[in-house]
Amino acid sequence: MNPIPHYRSFLDLPRVDPGYRPVEERVRDWQEVEGHLSPDELARQAARCMDCGIPFCYGAGCPLKNPIPEMNAAALESRWEDALQLVLTTCPYPEITGRICPALCEGACCNAKDSEAVAIRQIEREIGDRAFEEGRMVPRPVAPRNGLSVGVVGSGPTGLAAASDLNRWGFDVTVYESAKQAGGLLRYGIPDFKLEKWMVERRIELFRQEGVRFECGVRVGRDVALDYLRRKHDGVLLACGAREPRDLPVPGRELKGIHFALDFLIRQNQAVSGERSGIGAEWSARGRDVVVIGGGDTGSDCVGTSVRHGAKSVTQIEILPRPPEGRADDNPWPDWPRIYRASSSHQEGCERLFATNTLSFEGDESGRVYGLRCVQVEWQGRKPVAKPGTEFFRKADMVLLAMGFTGPGKDAPDAAGLERVWSAGDMVTGPSLVVWAAARGHDAARQIAVELGQLSEA
Ligand SMILES: Cc1cc2nc3c(=O)[nH]c(=O)nc-3n(C[C@H](O)[C@H](O)[C@H](O)COP(=O)(O)OP(=O)(O)OC[C@H]3O[C@@H](n4cnc5c(N)ncnc54)[C@H](O)[C@@H]3O)c2cc1C
Repeated sequence: MNPIPHYRSFLDLPRVDPGYRPVEERVRDWQEVEGHLSPDELARQAARCMDCGIPFCYGAGCPLKNPIPEMNAAALESRWEDALQLVLTTCPYPEITGRICPALCEGACCNAKDSEAVAIRQIEREIGDRAFEEGRMVPRPVAPRNGLSVGVVGSGPTGLAAASDLNRWGFDVTVYESAKQAGGLLRYGIPDFKLEKWMVERRIELFRQEGVRFECGVRVGRDVALDYLRRKHDGVLLACGAREPRDLPVPGRELKGIHFALDFLIRQNQAVSGERSGIGAEWSARGRDVVVIGGGDTGSDCVGTSVRHGAKSVTQIEILPRPPEGRADDNPWPDWPRIYRASSSHQEGCERLFATNTLSFEGDESGRVYGLRCVQVEWQGRKPVAKPGTEFFRKADMVLLAMGFTGPGKDAPDAAGLERVWSAGDMVTGPSLVVWAAARGHDAARQIAVELGQLSEA
């Protein structure tokens, strides 16, 4: 008999998060920063799920529609295999989303309306981790081959989700990936301190064992024509992501030391995994005053990476105003709360400037950036207006541009005039989240299977 009362514990038990490893320890390595809840604490957290009549967590929150109340109940009762099978019905890689998902479900949790959300992401992470530890995360059964084949271009979370579904439904699936290794931004964008890469490799190995083939180092459109792939397979899914960076065309942009954020992060991920021997002097933040322009997750990842390099100072500049501490009137539950957040990287040592625009970069006689001219802005509707008399100079000998991505870019494969070619994920929607990429990968797989006559529409 479990001593924890079911479905009323949210009244008695506070939310507890595992927190992070101490800053002084974690900035010396690239390993995961987040801690783990003890088994007892995790059970208490699962007991905070009130099994509400209308679970907004998956109705309004989770793009994958994970069966969250059922997963929580199974975790509470230590029915870990049941919990695993439940999450695998909707999520192709719970040990990954359980780490890096912002947990839209928690924003929509009924407890979050008046109190604190259930720690849903921690429970999902534990379900995945335990399954690996106990040898229960094994290749899943696949249907007999149906004689049809699909080529998936891109091995990010969209391509992986689609490939896994199609393979299990009996299609022969080959994933074509331009990078040396599979995983997309899971491998090359997101830093190891959020998601260690052996976990990505472990998941890809499972897909491989289930029968998905991976051909890495193949750029479709350059090394092999899309038209050829289309003839080789019965259908092709393009899942090439959205990596074209938004630029900042202000005076001085051409100076040395100004880089796009993703170029910086990719190099670091390659260095950690041994794919390149080091990051190189030009790309190291060591001893430098670093300014990251862009206040989102990519910018935050640049902050954590720069701190680990040993930067002299790190500043993150955001043009939008500082978000409120609590929900604004136009941002009610169960919408995702647009509130002020400090990531683990921010806590490692970073100054954050909001409502700040960059006017120009200043360079020294060698042509290297040595600072930025900025101005504070006031938002009038959707327009930032410079506040008179607020111009200032910020020293920087390394600048990282993390202002988002505009789309797949002009080199993306062009499917014009080709039939039976689908596209999905960030490539279609623009930059998004891993959980949305997974959901869109599932949707694309289903559509392909329906249109190739292997699934009914229902
Ligand atoms: C730095 C950074 C940090 C992020 N952190 C988070 C986070 O913490 N949580 C979260 O939920 N989301 C995060 N995101 C967003 C998330 O990573 C993306 O939304 C997600 O990866 C999109 O998946 P995708 O498969 O559509 O594209 P991608 O992951 O970009 O994968 C596309 C793949 O297609 C390949 N490709 C492209 N063109 C070709 C071609 N012609 N031939 C062959 N292969 C090709 C690419 O090499 C790549 O591997 C982050 C994004 C960035 C940039």
